[in-house]
Amino acid sequence: MSADCIFCKIARGEIPSKKVYEDEDVFAFHDIHPVAPVHFLIVPKLHLPSMYEANMAHHQALGKMLALAGELARQEGASDGFRTIINTGRVGHQEVYHVHMHVLGGPEPLGPMIMRKQRGA
Ligand code: AMP
Ligand code: ZN
Repeated sequence: MSADCIFCKIARGEIPSKKVYEDEDVFAFHDIHPVAPVHFLIVPKLHLPSMYEANMAHHQALGKMLALAGELARQEGASDGFRTIINTGRVGHQEVYHVHMHVLGGPEPLGPMIMRKQRGA
């Protein structure tokens, strides 16, 4: 737990969020700036700054994040596929330093994962 971490505060109910799911290990809520019709985040309740700090001690919460993604994506309306993203560190463009997995869904296809560079000239 970290006193001034925004996702710790959301998981503790100190900052409002649109809750998708909660159990003893994880919390899921809608992203405040959705970039797709379905866009929610699944976070471990334990404060873990990034995937660099993850280790086998965290396997239960991290495993649950993956194991729940499909069921919650369907529940939220992504019935024809979805994408999971975990941004890590500067290169991964992580903005909030509490591990979170984005779950993004259509109905329309989301486009390529990362824009490919133009080939040739
Ligand atoms: P990133 O760290 O780049 O993977 O992205 C952080 C994500 O957290 C962004 O998509 C934000 O829109 C989202 N976010 C930041 N603050 C909140 C909040 N209070 N409630 C819900 N989502 C948030
Ligand atoms: Zn935190």
